[in-house]
Amino acid sequence: MLAHKAEEEGIAAVEHILGEGGHVNYDAIPGVIYTHPEVAWVGKSEEELKKAGVEYKKGIFPMSANSRARTNNDSEGMVKILTDAKTDKMLGIWCMGSNAGEMIAEGVLAFEYGASSEDVARTCHAHPTMSEAFKEACMAAHGKAIHF
Ligand SMILES: Cc1cc2nc3c(=O)[nH]c(=O)nc-3n(C[C@H](O)[C@H](O)[C@H](O)COP(=O)(O)OP(=O)(O)OC[C@H]3O[C@@H](n4cnc5c(N)ncnc54)[C@H](O)[C@@H]3O)c2cc1C
Repeated sequence: MLAHKAEEEGIAAVEHILGEGGHVNYDAIPGVIYTHPEVAWVGKSEEELKKAGVEYKKGIFPMSANSRARTNNDSEGMVKILTDAKTDKMLGIWCMGSNAGEMIAEGVLAFEYGASSEDVARTCHAHPTMSEAFKEACMAAHGKAIHF
């Protein structure tokens, strides 16, 4: 599924042919549904974590409380993050919003670097941008969202 996954696999295949040890991190492939609002995610869902018996924390931030989304008069959606209850390593990131397909890039980067939700919560995000909703969802996982 999805052209960007095929692209990574193509690069990895050529690197293998060249003896450079190509690799694809299948846990960090974003999914995007290009509707309006868009839906984008990376990692596990709550259902998958429950089934696997993984204890997790959840942080949710609604786009209706995000300044840029409100300014654009396009504030449908939310960001939800799922993070390991003990280590705080992020396990799942779910976005719904007019630019969710763009926002998920930050989530994928966080996954690739093994970030905790606190890492993102303590990263400065420009204002007013929709990416602030991702930061706030991470803050919410610790009960520390400031705009909702
Ligand atoms: C209409 C449409 C819209 C899409 N839109 C998006 C999108 O917006 N975003 C997105 O991320 N993804 C999209 N996709 C999905 C995306 O195109 C695929 O996930 C991606 O192309 C898969 O790449 P692949 O290299 O794995 O396979 P493919 O691109 O299917 O390549 C496989 C190749 O192998 C060849 N082949 C098959 N069998 C043999 C054989 N026996 N011998 C030799 N050659 C063979 C085929 O002819 C083909 O060229 C869309 C797909 C479709 C059909």
